[in-house]
Amino acid sequence: MTRRVLLFDIDGTLIRCGGAGGKSLLAAMADEFALEEVSPVPIHGRTDLGIVNQLLGDHGIECTEANRHRLYNRYYSLLPARLAQLAEAAEAHILPGVQSLLGHLSTSSNFVVGLLTGNMPTSARIKLDHFELWDHFQFGVFGNQADHRPRLAEPAMAAIASHCGEPVHAKDVIIIGDTPLDVELAKVMGSRSLALCTGGFSAGDLQQSGADLVLEDLSDNHRVLSWLAL
Ligand SMILES: [Mg+2]
Repeated sequence: MTRRVLLFDIDGTLIRCGGAGGKSLLAAMADEFALEEVSPVPIHGRTDLGIVNQLLGDHGIECTEANRHRLYNRYYSLLPARLAQLAEAAEAHILPGVQSLLGHLSTSSNFVVGLLTGNMPTSARIKLDHFELWDHFQFGVFGNQADHRPRLAEPAMAAIASHCGEPVHAKDVIIIGDTPLDVELAKVMGSRSLALCTGGFSAGDLQQSGADLVLEDLSDNHRVLSWLAL
């Protein structure tokens, strides 16, 4: 079969963090910029760069590289403990079928397995290391590369070509995610999308967004693998 490049989203697709990311980011905002109250912003499916720019802007803080770094660094320092706490309370966990699917994929030379996430590289690693999933991924495209998820299309195709050592046709790339923004990104790329209902969006929402396949979760590995190989 033709080699397929699979790009997995993280939150709501591979794992649920029980809000550890969002809560840590808001706490980091409050701590780093001495704010008494921080108003939340939408986070589902968005890139960290877009989220952080909006958070800073909404609170009257200049959107400079230096301020973003202050916020990211504080966020990275808070995230591991909060994630551990929520995992202990079983609110953060790996989603159904993920471990076995990644196990199957790692034994097949037909699939190149990467990440395409709104997380920054450091937070992606903190989250996946916590669940011992990081080593399954050969490369990644992260949320520091665009402020709007569909704009990750170009960096994604470049990262794929660089990783594979040659350009790969977009139709041989599959985006696996949990939000309409993941599906929109796949459309911009000209790639197929597998959308999962594990992140809070309903099957109806995801179908309406134009996903090529919508599943409750990844637990039917056989069905998922057959579809990925189409
Ligand atoms: Mg997600």
